Amino acid sequence: MLCNQCSMSLSGGCTVRGVCGKDPDLNSLQDALIYGIKGTAAYYYHALEMGYDNPEIGHFLAEALYSTLTNVNFDKNRFIDLILENGRIHLEAMKLLDKAYTETFGLPKPVEVPTGTTEGHGIVVTGHSYKALYELLNQIREMGLEEEIKVYTHSEMLPAHSYPEIRKFKSLYGNWGGSWVYQRKEFAEFPGVIIGTSNCVQQPTKAYQDRIFTVGIAGLEGVPHLEDYDFEPAIKRALETPKMGKREGEKIVTGFHHTYILAMKDKLIELINEGKIRHIFVIGGCDVPNPKMSYYEKLTELVPRDAIILSAACGKFRYNRRDYGSIEGIPRFMDFGQCNNVYSIIEIALALAKELDMDINSLPVSIVLSWMEQKAIGILYTLLYLGVKGIYIGPKSPEFLTPRVFEILRKQFDLRLISEPEKDLREMLSKGISLEESAPLAEELD
Ligand code: SF4
Ligand code: SF4
Repeated sequence: MLCNQCSMSLSGGCTVRGVCGKDPDLNSLQDALIYGIKGTAAYYYHALEMGYDNPEIGHFLAEALYSTLTNVNFDKNRFIDLILENGRIHLEAMKLLDKAYTETFGLPKPVEVPTGTTEGHGIVVTGHSYKALYELLNQIREMGLEEEIKVYTHSEMLPAHSYPEIRKFKSLYGNWGGSWVYQRKEFAEFPGVIIGTSNCVQQPTKAYQDRIFTVGIAGLEGVPHLEDYDFEPAIKRALETPKMGKREGEKIVTGFHHTYILAMKDKLIELINEGKIRHIFVIGGCDVPNPKMSYYEKLTELVPRDAIILSAACGKFRYNRRDYGSIEGIPRFMDFGQCNNVYSIIEIALALAKELDMDINSLPVSIVLSWMEQKAIGILYTLLYLGVKGIYIGPKSPEFLTPRVFEILRKQFDLRLISEPEKDLREMLSKGISLEESAPLAEELD
């Protein structure tokens, strides 16, 4: 453990046990809560950015932070309760953000997004803020530059193309590159301006440091920050960069939403009942520069032809360009968008459970998450709050969980670490979950 938050701290921090009495498992649970609310804060921030609020979320963030102050709460079971409550609140934050985006930009529909280029000066936008992208596109239009400047999405901005009120702008063209992991190479190759709106943005290399800007929550040392969503400096800089030419590229499909899928719910249920869709895999989450991410590439390749894959977030760039085909009109691979759009996948799972009169854990559904940062941790807590068991996570176990805390989660929620794709796939298709009796946390840890 490492805690140095109060003045009783030993020199270099309390690392074995706190002077206050805090032990490593309690410290781990407090960290687990703090990391979960960091993720919740991200969705809440983007909703507030759009002018949408749910004060319950803010109240919980305050309560959760306060509970980790020195000498406030030493009860490990209360922290497990707070982590599950974080899951509920994280779901509320995803719901609020979905409401903000769909009411403002319209209901998303699946679209084919070009990955080639077109004539004009280029601006590529990365991060998660649709508000920033919208403002940029609007300002380009107001400046009469829609023919001159073409805008590309990058990484988690890809699903923006599926929202009608964003898609309507003539200057929005296609998508450049893949997940955040390769940005230094991809931005160096992009001749125009780069705008970072949130994570995951990295310090630029010399190759593009004179043509990158940040806006909103994002910031980079030595990089100009666009205040109050005023994109004029970035637009003017784009006009100084070399024009891009026309280059054909493949197209990628994004923009599935629960409203779109639930409109064909009867067909989906018919296919499940007839055994034509044997299994639904939810494979999504972050991309991580870790060799074990090849697991997700392999797993999606191995998924049988009579199963479908629902995905979201930037890990999908490792496997979203394949042609997965369809099952009687239902695409075998559906990208629901950013990580917050896991909300749509949850809505679909809950609706299917209701229609099929099943417990959510009895559905022929397996969930395999890749996590990089704290929004994904919040999503994991949401799934635990919903009582989902047998979730696979990777590419590695969170360092902030002590082995004993991870073991508790494994026992209570059947949380699993990814192993080998073939082995895990066999397990998932058999869906044989055997749960050990859950025990009160404090008894296990004291
Ligand atoms: S809160 Fe406890 S563990 Fe943390 S620095 Fe203070 S005494 Fe050490
Ligand atoms: S999904 Fe996760 S890793 Fe990917 S860009 Fe978003 S925050 Fe970063």
